[in-house]
Amino acid sequence: MKNITILGATGSIGTSTLAVIDLHPNSFKVFAISANKSWQQMLKLCIKYQPEYAVMANENAASKLQKALTNDTKILSGAKSLNYIAAHKKTDYVMAAIVGVAGIHSVLMAAESGKRIMLANKESLILAGNILLESIIKNNSQLIPVDSEHCAIMQCIQNSKSKLQKVQLTASGGPFLNTPISKLKSVSIKDACNHPNWSMGHKISIDSATMINKGLEVIEAHYLFNLKPEQIEVVIHPKSIIHSLVYYKDGSVLSQLSNPDMRCAISYSMAYPNRIKSGVKTLDLIKHSPLEFYKPDYKKFPCLELAFESLKQGVSAIGAINAANEIAVAAFMQGKIKFLDIAKVIEKTLASTKRAELNNLASVIANNETARQVASLIIKQCSYN
Ligand code: NAD
Ligand code: MG
Repeated sequence: MKNITILGATGSIGTSTLAVIDLHPNSFKVFAISANKSWQQMLKLCIKYQPEYAVMANENAASKLQKALTNDTKILSGAKSLNYIAAHKKTDYVMAAIVGVAGIHSVLMAAESGKRIMLANKESLILAGNILLESIIKNNSQLIPVDSEHCAIMQCIQNSKSKLQKVQLTASGGPFLNTPISKLKSVSIKDACNHPNWSMGHKISIDSATMINKGLEVIEAHYLFNLKPEQIEVVIHPKSIIHSLVYYKDGSVLSQLSNPDMRCAISYSMAYPNRIKSGVKTLDLIKHSPLEFYKPDYKKFPCLELAFESLKQGVSAIGAINAANEIAVAAFMQGKIKFLDIAKVIEKTLASTKRAELNNLASVIANNETARQVASLIIKQCSYN
């Protein structure tokens, strides 16, 4: 029996993780769960799974949960408590499914404590890739990517990484793949969140619509598989059936296919090196044919280019585009800026970021804070509306 701590249990990945656990009650136990503010949803999870700990990052939400709950689950609050459950000696596996930079500390704590990290929170790698990977080696932890593309690549390179030429990350192209640039000016939040294939949280849905999500995944692949920027390509594959491809120097190409459902990657991260039932339907290739592939349109999706550019510039630039994007997406969600302004905010923030080596978490966080302030100022100063 493996004890699982789910950070971000109420989100899209958290919910899918619980659905996989439901299929294997004799192999996995929900040891601890966390969420930000959604205490009512957490109450239901506490009643169903009876975890030892439930953490609400928000203190007010924690006291509401405490008042409503009658079982023995210990309710904790605040960001430090996320670290506590991630590092707890009874935790075997940590599902890192908090959205954004808020997830980074707990992932590092899990790494320091020798856990298996099932990593959905791509921001930890993007911002602190070297620090995280060093800690994983030093503490004998394990990192299994839950992002579908990276999980696919990991599966493909199980037998051999030698003579690997390049990887190709597949991208659906998001909800605006076939929308002309002229129409992108006026798209709504609802349009941007309406992903054709995947059901996801709001932030990553908007990121898919701007395609910065794919750009962030390029950076993620760089760290995870030790690849140079020129070894990572993006190909548009609108149906999201092929989850990435690995090209070898002998001319062979390996890939992993499935219906677009995150339970596939989640179950793999839980069962690795084995496989278990995930609840995902068997793939029907005939139903999905033809599978199509296109070059990405970098003019229409400048965020993709900006991500590649930041990777070439280094860690402070990568941190800057991630922070600027978080601020710009939040502003878009609040109706303060338009969809196309997201890329402009990122570009301007990147342009005003100083190149620096960030060798510890404090400098990563400081760089993130500075870039957030710069991006907020850019949004204030420019009358985008
Ligand atoms: P979501 O918005 O659905 O859920 C986020 C979870 O994090 C919630 O439980 C929320 O309560 C918690 N949370 C939010 N802010 C927090 C804070 N400040 N402190 C503590 N907890 C906080 O997001 P999601 O779509 O499940 O994505 C989670 C992560 O997984 C993201 O990093 C995303 O990029 C990555 N990811 C998601 C998918 C997907 O299909 N949804 C695919 C690949 C990668
Ligand atoms: Mg992905």
